[in-house]
Amino acid sequence: MTGPGRDPIFVVQEHAARRLHYDFRLEVDGALESWAVPKGPSTDPRHKRLAILTEPHAIDYAEFEGVIPPGEYGAGAVLVWDLGTYRNLRRDDRGRPIPMRRALEEGLVEVELFGRKLRGGWALVRTRMSERSWLLVKRKDEFARPGRDVLVECPKSVLSGRTIQEIAAATEGG
Ligand code: MN
Repeated sequence: MTGPGRDPIFVVQEHAARRLHYDFRLEVDGALESWAVPKGPSTDPRHKRLAILTEPHAIDYAEFEGVIPPGEYGAGAVLVWDLGTYRNLRRDDRGRPIPMRRALEEGLVEVELFGRKLRGGWALVRTRMSERSWLLVKRKDEFARPGRDVLVECPKSVLSGRTIQEIAAATEGG
């Protein structure tokens, strides 16, 4: 999955920690820049979902699915809810690509997602509340689904087809 010339990846992991949330991660410079989205992504462009910037994760974590043991940070079940590649859409006023690192520093990330569930244009916009408070928003395009709830309609793992309850139960007692 790694190597020069390939497209960068994105992953969304449902995480049944103390509070359920969805971790939205984008590969940037060999690591996964990460946001915790309490309500999860919405394909309705009217929904601005709070996304809390968290610590970057190693690229290998993108395919982690299972249970983080009790007592460890983030204890609880993790499900790979969506996984795919993305394209950086940010351009300067001359049409030249703005590197992802600079987009992050500027507080405006715009990407096209090529996932199983999430597709089309998405924006992450830093708020004035704090450095860590961003909003995740679906752009209006052919992949927008106003009034629909993709989390309810497509709850299962794209890796294993399991639900978060099945993942949590699979390792209980063993
Ligand atoms: Mn998490």
